[in-house]
Amino acid sequence: MKIILLGPPGAGKGTQAKFISEEYFIPHISTGDIFRKNISEKTPLGIEAKKYLDEGKLVPDEVTINIMKNRLGMDDCKDGFLLDGFPRTVNQAKALDSYLGSVGQKIDVVLLIDVPKELIFDRMTGRRVCPSCGASYHIKYNPPKIEGKCDVCHSDIVQRKDDTQSTVKSRLDVYDKQTEPLIGYYKNQEVLSIVNGTGGINQVFENVKSNLKDIHK
Ligand code: ADP
Ligand code: AMP
Repeated sequence: MKIILLGPPGAGKGTQAKFISEEYFIPHISTGDIFRKNISEKTPLGIEAKKYLDEGKLVPDEVTINIMKNRLGMDDCKDGFLLDGFPRTVNQAKALDSYLGSVGQKIDVVLLIDVPKELIFDRMTGRRVCPSCGASYHIKYNPPKIEGKCDVCHSDIVQRKDDTQSTVKSRLDVYDKQTEPLIGYYKNQEVLSIVNGTGGINQVFENVKSNLKDIHK
C-alpha cells in the first residue's frame, strides 16, 4: 500500500505512522525525522535545514523533493510506503505524482487525520521526544513510565525546539497557508479518506484501520 498521512502538525501522524507501518509492513518515511537526523549529524543538509526547522518554516521544495525522490527509489519502497509530513505543498504533491507516474506507481490513499485546532496546541506543546532513539511521548496523553525518561532507552526526553508556544503558532499558520490546500488537491483525485483523530491514541488507530479496510484487500 502507498499511503500519505496528511494533517496539521501535532495531529498524531507520527504516532499513527508507527502503528500503521508495523501492521501493514511498510516503511515509515518522515521528512521531519530525516531533517532532524541530518541536523543532529551536522551534515550539509542538516546545516541548511536547521534554520527553517528552528523557525517553523518549510524547507525549500527543491531540497525536500530531491530527498524524497532518493528515498522512494530505495528497495524497501518497492511494495509500498507510508509518507508522514510529505507532501506539504501543492508543488511537492505534483512532484510526487510525477515521480510516481514515471515509475508506474500511484498513491492508494491519503489519510487526513482530522483534529480540531483546540486539541492541536495542547498535543504539540505537551510532546516530548527521546533525542537518542526518537521515541515520542506526551506529558498528559502518553507519558513515559518514569517521568522524564525514555521507556525504550532510558535517556532524558526533551521538548522539540519547534514545539514551543511561539513556533507552534507559526507552524500552524504555515499549515493553513501551504499544506491545507492539499486536502482539495487529493479530494479531486478521489483518494482522500478522513480519519476522526479526536479520540485517544488506540481509538484513532482503530479508526485508521477501519478506513484502510476497503483499500487493503
Ligand atoms: P505529528 O506527527 O502529526 O506532528 P505526533 O504523532 O508527534 O504528531 O503527536 C503529537 C503529540 O500528541 C505527541 O506528544 C503524541 O504523543 C500526542 N498524541 C498523538 N495522538 C494522540 C491522541 N490521539 N490523543 C492524545 N494525544 C495524542
Ligand atoms: P514534522 O516532524 O513533520 O513536524 O516536521 C518538522 C519540520 O521539518 C517542519 O516544521 C519543516 O521545517 C520541516 N519539514 C518536514 N517535512 C517537510 C516538507 N515536506 N517540506 C518542507 N519542510 C518540511
